[in-house]
Amino acid sequence: MKDSHGRVIDYLRISLTDRCNFRCIYCMPADGVQPMGHDEILRIEEIEAIARVATRIGIRSVRLTGGEPLVRKGVVDLVKSLSAMDGIVNVSMTTNGVLLPEMAADLKAAGLSRVNISLDTLDPEQFTYITRIGRLESTMKGIDAALEAGFDPVKINAVTVRRLNQDFLGFAKLSLERPLHVRFIEYMPVGSAAGTGGSGWDKSDVIPSEELLEIINDRAIDEGIPVLEPLDGEHKPIGWGPARYFEFPGAAGTVGFISPLSRHFCSECNRLRLTADGKLRPCLFSDREIDVRTALREGGEDAAYQCFLEALNLKPDEHHDKVGTERNMSQIGG
Ligand code: SAM
Ligand code: SF4
Repeated sequence: MKDSHGRVIDYLRISLTDRCNFRCIYCMPADGVQPMGHDEILRIEEIEAIARVATRIGIRSVRLTGGEPLVRKGVVDLVKSLSAMDGIVNVSMTTNGVLLPEMAADLKAAGLSRVNISLDTLDPEQFTYITRIGRLESTMKGIDAALEAGFDPVKINAVTVRRLNQDFLGFAKLSLERPLHVRFIEYMPVGSAAGTGGSGWDKSDVIPSEELLEIINDRAIDEGIPVLEPLDGEHKPIGWGPARYFEFPGAAGTVGFISPLSRHFCSECNRLRLTADGKLRPCLFSDREIDVRTALREGGEDAAYQCFLEALNLKPDEHHDKVGTERNMSQIGG
């Protein structure tokens, strides 16, 4: 189905939990966020019911996210039921990877189509600084596990933050030897980022993708290695979404740039979001939400369907460079 601006909406991001085993500095405040109450969180059967309703408006792809989706009990069975659901053609996941060594094979067998792993640096100290409590080794083992389980593509999402001074060329080189698709994402002003005690986003921390591409290529020239070359449609990894892709000549993987701020892709936006506490969110940057949980609990699937129609109607034309949202990224799902 189309929204009121003529965009086909066929993709739903489902946040399974607001809990996380990391506390990334760009995602949540240092002391975390007030956890949602047990009754507020959608039960697994409710998520399934909402996904079923979503297929009635034409949702074809779902991505499981969080918080950390793999800490949610029952996630493997949920993947199984969603991937078997009529109308759903693919089920993917965004994870910090920590639990993949023990879960990747089961997720693959359950029908998970693709996995994106979040990692922003290859420096162990910087990794612990960014995640506040994580260890680089745990996410690296998660990446190994995803490849071993046969996931293809495996995408690596890196948030770029100027003040962190990440080694972008070193990071992009992750794509050289193994079929890893590195995607650099501009730091977004979501959460209490407007200076009210959250992730502390500041415009000066955003590295526009064009500039980042130049930084990487300048460093490559300094090191005497070939620069990144643009990729045409045929060679882009499946599900390439809003990224622009490049590759080092002869590399096993690719390097993409996602530019929600410097190059709005709102006109191509095809998604809705479902929070762990059952609110439909038409736009990441807007606090406008529709309470599908209450609708489902009180009125069943037909009432939930009306919420989806309302979400299509309320989806804004673009994010208008809004800074700050009431919920942090960990409560929305990215
Ligand atoms: N815990 C999982 C993970 O980290 O992959 C899934 C949830 S996390 C909220 C989803 C994605 O949002 C991650 O790739 C994360 O890096 C990204 N993210 C979080 N805060 C962000 C911000 N302020 N700007 C851009 N991306 C952000
Ligand atoms: Fe957790 Fe993912 Fe947010 Fe990091 S980005 S705190 S791993 S939800």
